[in-house]
Amino acid sequence: MQKMNKLIVLLVFLFIPQALVKSQGTFECSGIIGTHPSLLKSGYVYDPNISIRYVKINIHYMLKTDGTGNFTETTDGVVSANSPYNGYTYAALLVNTANQRLASNPKMNLPPNNATPNYPKQYRFILAGVYFHRNSNYYYYPNGGYLLDLYGVNLGSEINIFFDNANGQNGGGQASMSGSRMVEIRGAWDTYNQWYATNKLIGTWALAGTITHEIGHNLGLDHTVRYSNGPCCATGDASCGDNCDDTPSRDQMLALGFDACCGFNQEGIATCDNNLMNYTGDQALTPCQLGIVFGNFTKDESSNGTKLYLTCSFTTNVLDLCSLGSNQLLYNAKTINFPASGCMNGLIPVGQSIVFTASDGINLNNGFEVQLGSSFETSIISSCQ
Ligand SMILES: [Zn+2]
Repeated sequence: MQKMNKLIVLLVFLFIPQALVKSQGTFECSGIIGTHPSLLKSGYVYDPNISIRYVKINIHYMLKTDGTGNFTETTDGVVSANSPYNGYTYAALLVNTANQRLASNPKMNLPPNNATPNYPKQYRFILAGVYFHRNSNYYYYPNGGYLLDLYGVNLGSEINIFFDNANGQNGGGQASMSGSRMVEIRGAWDTYNQWYATNKLIGTWALAGTITHEIGHNLGLDHTVRYSNGPCCATGDASCGDNCDDTPSRDQMLALGFDACCGFNQEGIATCDNNLMNYTGDQALTPCQLGIVFGNFTKDESSNGTKLYLTCSFTTNVLDLCSLGSNQLLYNAKTINFPASGCMNGLIPVGQSIVFTASDGINLNNGFEVQLGSSFETSIISSCQ
């Protein structure tokens, strides 16, 4: 009888995590949107003591024309669930979770017994805006660059991330490596819908991992042991991979007798590549990869760089604000005046979390008011080089 009890307990523990992993096991990056730049190392030597850089991102929810099928401004889109989440709170939670994942850098599994440093990743994401689009024509993945043309905000200086429906397929995403940076993620709401309805979990951990991977592409990183569109590198194809010496190629590991091209949730296997730019869902980045990311942070768009995506790149000198809308959450300028001269009042919208980032000054004038349930943060930072 005791044996039977043990068996039942064991089955419960074996089956539940497996079910969770499978429903969350949505990590497939189906490719690169737009042009794929030729792979070059940046020549930039990463200094782990650099101050943290903040990359501006917008989150867009693609809804059906009738307003159903995704998070909305006020609900999670699942009326029966009675959930505390809406499009804004879910986006904020997701960005926080992605930043938690960026805050650690696991040691590389490969090559065996390596001494590759796992430096801190000195970059994070900051939520610049949350947007809602009601158009059934663009509800299902994939839509690619059309989404950017129709709904992109501050192209070239903010990464636009679109959440559309997986239409019954697995989740995953794709991203651009050049031009205006964007990400398209499929199935975020589908996973939330399934998880929250059954066990009140929201499934943001794996999704945050997908976002850090896709934004890795935006910032100039290619897949380590895979082609850009996903398949494992073919044996003997030296052109496949990311061109970094400290991320061993699939061929190099095959020569040692094992295959490093593993799938989701296999980062615990010592012979699997646990790099952020493979598919295990783990988050390791090497000094070479960090050099590429931070090298691109020093270059502007004309050199295919990402400098303008950082909060420390101030493209506006003085921002005079009279009123704030509900979608833009981050305001970034050398000097911010709110409310500006001549404005009656300056209200932080009900329920919103607004951030002002400036290098020279933030002037909060008569009439400034943070309304009930809202939050307001200011940050003075130096311009980046
Ligand atoms: Zn990818």
